[in-house]
Amino acid sequence: MKLSWKTLLLWSLPIIIISFFVWQGFLAPTINENDNNVANSRMTYGRFLEYLDMGWVKKVDLYDNGHTAIVEAIGPELGNRIQKIRVELPNSAPELINKLKKSNVDLNAHPQKNTVAIWSFLGNLLFPLLLITSLIFIFRRSSNSNGGPGQAMSFGKSKATFQMEAKTGVIFDDVAGIDEAKEEFEEIVTFLKKPEYFTSVGAKIPKGVLLIGSPGTGKTLLAKAIAGEANVPFFSISGSEFVEMFVGVGASRVRDLFKKAKENAPCIVFIDEIDAVGRQRGTGIGGGNDEREQTLNQLLTEMDGFEGNTGIIVVAATNRADILDSALLRPGRFDRQVTVSIPDFKGRLSILKVHARNKKVDENISLNIIAKRTPGFSGADLANLLNEAAILTARRRKNYITLKEIDDAIDRIVAGMEGTPLIDSKSKRLIAYHEVGHAIVGTLLKDHDNVQKVTLIPRGQARGLTWFTPSEDQNLISRSQIKARIMGALGGRAAEEIVFGNAEITTGASNDLQQVTSMARQMVTRFGMSNIGPLSLENTDSNPFLGRSMAGNNDYSDEISIKIDKQIQDIIQECHYKTLEIIKNNRVIIDKLVDTLIEKETIDGSEFRQIVQLYTNIPEKHST
Ligand code: ADP
Ligand code: ZN
Repeated sequence: MKLSWKTLLLWSLPIIIISFFVWQGFLAPTINENDNNVANSRMTYGRFLEYLDMGWVKKVDLYDNGHTAIVEAIGPELGNRIQKIRVELPNSAPELINKLKKSNVDLNAHPQKNTVAIWSFLGNLLFPLLLITSLIFIFRRSSNSNGGPGQAMSFGKSKATFQMEAKTGVIFDDVAGIDEAKEEFEEIVTFLKKPEYFTSVGAKIPKGVLLIGSPGTGKTLLAKAIAGEANVPFFSISGSEFVEMFVGVGASRVRDLFKKAKENAPCIVFIDEIDAVGRQRGTGIGGGNDEREQTLNQLLTEMDGFEGNTGIIVVAATNRADILDSALLRPGRFDRQVTVSIPDFKGRLSILKVHARNKKVDENISLNIIAKRTPGFSGADLANLLNEAAILTARRRKNYITLKEIDDAIDRIVAGMEGTPLIDSKSKRLIAYHEVGHAIVGTLLKDHDNVQKVTLIPRGQARGLTWFTPSEDQNLISRSQIKARIMGALGGRAAEEIVFGNAEITTGASNDLQQVTSMARQMVTRFGMSNIGPLSLENTDSNPFLGRSMAGNNDYSDEISIKIDKQIQDIIQECHYKTLEIIKNNRVIIDKLVDTLIEKETIDGSEFRQIVQLYTNIPEKHST
C-alpha cells in the first residue's frame, strides 16, 4: 500500500471539517424542532423589554433553561404583523418572569428534552464514525482507479467489472444497413425464444458468434438487439478489462461472468475487443503473456463447460479476426463468424433513416443527399453526424435541421473543429495558392472527383482545405483515377513551387506527400500497376505482435525491393511533372481564383467551376 500520508491528510481534512459541523449540528437542537417557523430574526434583550413595555409582545416561549426565548410580537417596526423573534436572555432574569406574568403575555417554558442527551451521545460517536467511514471511502476510491496503489487490497478478489442489462430495449429495427448480419442474428433469436424447435430434431444451439468489423459499425448494437428481441438479459464486458496487472484476476473475472450468466440463462454474453485476450498464444516477443493466456484458457474452458442448450450465447466482437487464437474459432466455440462492414450508399441511407426518426429534419432535405456525401462513414459516424447537426440547429435557434447544419457537421466530423481565419498576409496567400492548386488540378483532370469547395478557414490541423465530392463507393478504381488523385494531391505543392519559387516551398504539403507516396506504393505492390508487372508484393506474413510493416521478412528479394522503390519514384515524378504543367498553363485562372478566395474565404464547387469556365474548358468527368 503506497497511499502516502500526505494525500490521506489532504483528503481527510475537508471531511474532518464537515463532520465537525455535522456534529455541532446534532448537539444543538435545543430549540423546538417541531416548530417549522423557528425565528430567523433576532433582537436584543433591551429591545425586548421595550417591546414588552409597549405591550407589543403577545407570546413568549422559553427554551434552553430560560436562556433563549422565541417571542411573538406585533408592532409598527414589524410591519404590523405578528412575527417570531429570537432573544438571548441574560443568565439570571428572574424579574422577567414577573414582568411577563404582569403584562398578560402567553408564557411557555420548554424543558430540555432527554433526546438531546442522546443526540449529544450519538454526536460524539458520530464524529469518529464519520471520519472512519470517510477514510474507508478514500481507500476504496483509490483501489477502484485503474492501476492505483490500492489495487493490492483487492488482490485475488474480482470486482464485478461486467455490466448487466436486464432489458436492452434495442430491437432489430434500430439496426440498419447491415442486413446480412441481421439475418444471421434473427435465427439466433429464434434459438433463444423457441429452443425446442431445434432441440427436438437434435440440433445443437450455437454457443458463440464472432462479429468482425471496424469500430462503430454496430456490433454492440446488434448484440444488444438480439437480447432485446429475445427478451433476455445482456451481459457485457470488454476484453481489455480481463487483462489485469495480477495473474489470475482475468481468469477469475471470466469465471464470475459465466457464473452470473448461468444463473440468468437464457442470456447474451457480449465480449467486446476480444482480441485483447484472444490473440494467438505463445508467440509474443519475450514469451507469452501468462495472464492473458490464463484468461483465454479460462474463457475456452467456460465455453466448453456449458452445454449448447443452456441458452447462453456468447457474442464477441473484434476488428482483427486475423490475430485471434485459432482455438477460439474451433467448432463449439466461436464457430459462427459474421462480418459487419462499413455501410454502402443504401446502408447509409437506412441508418440515416433510423437516426432521423427522432429528429426534426427539414422536409426539403432528402436523406439521399446526406448518404451520398458520406462514403466511408460508419453507423456510429452517421449517428454522430445527425446529432452534431441537431446541436448546431439548436445553437442557431432554428426549428429544423437544414442542409447547412448537415454540411457543417460533416465538415466538422471529417476535418475537425473550425478555427479562426488568418488575416491577410503572405502566408494566407501561400495557403490560398496551395489550395487552389489542388482544386484546379482536380477540376481539369477528367478522372478526378469534382471540387465541392475550397476554403481558407482552418479546421483541425489543416490551415486551408479543398473538398472533393466523393464519387459513389468505388470498389474498383482505375489506374488513371489513382494517378489523377496523386496529381490532385501534388497540386498544392506544385502551385507553391511555380508561384513562390523553389526556395519558398513550405511544410504545408507534408500530409499530401504522405498520401501521394502511399498511393504510389500501393499501385506498385498491391495493384500490379507498374512496370514490375502484375505481382502482389505485400508483406503477407502477419506477426500480430509487430505492426505488419515492422515485421520485415519480405517475401521478395532485395533486388525487387530496389525495383519497387524505383517504380514508386517514377510514378510520382511523372505525376509531379504533369501537375507542374497544369499549374503553369493555367496561371491566369489561378491568380483570379486566389483573389476571389482571399476575398471570400470559401468558394463552393459550382462557383469555382464557373470562374474556371470563363478561361478554359472543363473536361466531362468520368465519375458521377
Ligand atoms: P461497434 O460495437 O461496432 O463499435 P456500436 O454498436 O457501439 O459499434 O455503435 C455505436 C452507435 O452507432 C450505436 O449505438 C448506434 O447509435 C450507431 N450505429 C452503428 N451502427 C449502426 C447501424 N448499423 N444502424 C443503426 N445505428 C448504428
Ligand atoms: Zn495540400
